[in-house]
Amino acid sequence: MDECLFCNIIAKKIPAKFEYEGNSLVAIQDINPKAPVHLLVIPRKHISRLSQAEEADAPLLGEMILCGKRLAEERNLEEGFRLILNNGPKAGQSVFHIHLHLLGGRVMSWPPG
Ligand code: 5GP
Ligand code: ZN
Repeated sequence: MDECLFCNIIAKKIPAKFEYEGNSLVAIQDINPKAPVHLLVIPRKHISRLSQAEEADAPLLGEMILCGKRLAEERNLEEGFRLILNNGPKAGQSVFHIHLHLLGGRVMSWPPG
C-alpha cells in the first residue's frame, strides 16, 4: 500500500501528530480540524472503506469505536462527542483507508451536511 496516505503515516514515512499507538490501531490529529478535538482512529490494517470490511474485521471495527470512546473520555468530552465514519466519495470520504473521526469540544448540529 505504498500509495496510501494513512499507511505511510502509520509507517512513519509521512509525519503526523500521534495521540495513540496500539497494536492494531493508531490515532492522529486531523491536519484540518473541524472541531477543537478532531482525531482520526486508524487501523494498521489497510481496509479501503467500510464497504470492503468483512465479518472477520468485526473485532477490529469494535476496537475502533472503543478507542474513540476512550480518547473522548481522556479529553473530558462526555457531554458530547461524535464518532463519524465516511464511506465513499458521496459521503465525504477523501482518504481511502478506513478511519473513524472523533469530533468534540463544541456544540454540533444535526443532521450533518
Ligand atoms: P475523510 O474525508 O476521508 O472522512 O477524512 C479524511 C481526513 O483526513 C480529513 O479530515 C483530512 O483533513 C485528513 N487528512 C488528510 N490528509 C491528512 C494528512 O496528511 N495528515 C493528517 N493528519 N490528516 C489528514
Ligand atoms: Zn492504507
